Amino acid sequence: MHELGICDALLKMVRGIAKDEELEEISRITVEVGSLSGVVPAYMSDCWIAVTDGTELQDVEFVVEELKGTARCMDCGEEFEADFEHLRCPKCRGDKLIPLTGRDLTLKEILAP
Ligand SMILES: [Zn+2]
Repeated sequence: MHELGICDALLKMVRGIAKDEELEEISRITVEVGSLSGVVPAYMSDCWIAVTDGTELQDVEFVVEELKGTARCMDCGEEFEADFEHLRCPKCRGDKLIPLTGRDLTLKEILAP
């Protein structure tokens, strides 16, 4: 489960930003997860709770937004929305796909009260 490592890195990133921006408190953190990033949004929330437990960030609201990724079929050229559970071309059922978008995980917003 690499979500744990990601949350750990995210925690460090949030702390770094809070320090740079001199944020005393944070009320909400929003991350955007691409559907082709391989990260499961539900695991992200669980891991975030695990890594922030007992820290100054444990009560911060953690929001995971899923961004639909797109892929292109190498067989017929069709472009479509894709995620890890539907990795087939809707037109020709081919499975040779190139991901176009949705492979990223981004820290979208840190909200201070
Ligand atoms: Zn196709």
